[in-house]
Amino acid sequence: MIVPTQSRERHIRRTKIIATIGPASRDEETLTRLIRAGVDTVRLNFSHGTADEHAHVVRLVRGIEQRVGRAVGVLQDLQGPRLRTGPLAGGAPVMLRDGAELVLTAREWPEGTADMVSVNYPRLPQDVRPGDRLLLADGALELEVARSDGTDIHTVVLQGGELGERKGINTPNINISLASPTEKDRNDITRGVLMGVDHIALSFVRTPDEIEATRGMLRSLGAANVSIIAKVERSEAIDNFDDIMRVSDGIMVARGDLGVDLGVERVPVIQKELVRRTNHRRVPVIVATQMLESMIGSRRPTRAEASDVANAVLEGADAVMLSAETSIGAFPVEAVQTMDRVIREAEVSEAYREVSRRAAADNSPDGQDRKIARAVVGLLADIDAAALIVFSPDDHMPRMLSLERPTAPVIAFTDSRALYRRMALWHAVQPQWGERHDNTDALVGYMLTEAQERGLARAGDQVVVARLAPRETSDAPSFISVLRIPHQPRGRQA
Ligand code: PGA
Ligand code: MN
Repeated sequence: MIVPTQSRERHIRRTKIIATIGPASRDEETLTRLIRAGVDTVRLNFSHGTADEHAHVVRLVRGIEQRVGRAVGVLQDLQGPRLRTGPLAGGAPVMLRDGAELVLTAREWPEGTADMVSVNYPRLPQDVRPGDRLLLADGALELEVARSDGTDIHTVVLQGGELGERKGINTPNINISLASPTEKDRNDITRGVLMGVDHIALSFVRTPDEIEATRGMLRSLGAANVSIIAKVERSEAIDNFDDIMRVSDGIMVARGDLGVDLGVERVPVIQKELVRRTNHRRVPVIVATQMLESMIGSRRPTRAEASDVANAVLEGADAVMLSAETSIGAFPVEAVQTMDRVIREAEVSEAYREVSRRAAADNSPDGQDRKIARAVVGLLADIDAAALIVFSPDDHMPRMLSLERPTAPVIAFTDSRALYRRMALWHAVQPQWGERHDNTDALVGYMLTEAQERGLARAGDQVVVARLAPRETSDAPSFISVLRIPHQPRGRQA
């Protein structure tokens, strides 16, 4: 079916865009253009850059958010227990030849050579066994452990090549005793909370305990509302996926390290499976890494990359992410514009409606709130409403509605700054800064007028208007009404 261009332009994008901010995008002008082009949440990658640099970005984003008038969330991505090789003599790369021996030492060793390089994790020599494989530099190089003596790992180079300084080490099938969050992560979380980040992503998660530990830490910092996203990038996270999902506020399919740890051939099926399971359990899911990789150096993506973005949307991703494309690439703004266009095209297609149908058919609601969310989303679809306009005292109900995959956008008013920004990541939710009205008629009148004035609904549109509070916290009564946007905005008559 061919979709008329007009409906594409009026379409409010549901799938959210996360863009990583780095040297190519942390100036105010580029950041403003990225946000105008559609970035919903910025990602600060704490594997790179200083906390001060990240804090500066957060300050800029807060200013731009106000000027542009759109909510922008901040996602702090922690480095996690990322193993790395150490510095090299003179900083120059060394050549590792197939069959050569290489010692990885846990000792201080700033002068790395093709014979010996340090690693940043002192316990690694105890964690490895003869025969284990170590992958360096995104899997480009492969080593086999011959023996290990407490501080030094003696390896044989299976797949050689050039090794630069401080390259990542992946250890498929090796049980590393280093857990998330690391000492550095804990320091970064403390800094992040002070900066006011909205979400925290935990890298190399293996167990639900690591999420719980992070949540405990956030609670003790008075930041219990910051959401925690588990990055699935190790095989242990797949083994423990259901338990991890149960305690996380979101999941990231971190395809970069996942592809190194499990092999690229397993990524597509794992992605589909994780998106299916998160959709089913009503947990938000982000598909990440290399989505428009060629745009690091090119104005146009490959057709395969465009398909990758569209397929993530059609599979049921809540959000998609840009990494190097926007952090170090030559065309950060074009990358966001491209992603936005590809998503829109996917979302106006007949195939995308399948995502909502799947959610509707998945009728195993647990709990009162989910039943209410299902009923509201069912009503939206049945009467083909143009929008759901809702006020909620926290983001629990908007998030639940989002996960039911509504067939219309959820225009979610709030008077909480934290909530406004956090909701920017939830699928289909359009956070709106607005006043609280305890009187129901006043609230409805206010929301209808504002929705129209902000261009989110048109006179004559049929909409569902609601105030939804989770049962335990409701102070003002919940209600649901079906209304038409009036031709004269209320309260503005001559
Ligand atoms: P990273 O995580 O970009 O922090 O490595 C994402 C991934 O591994 O895909
Ligand atoms: Mn990673």
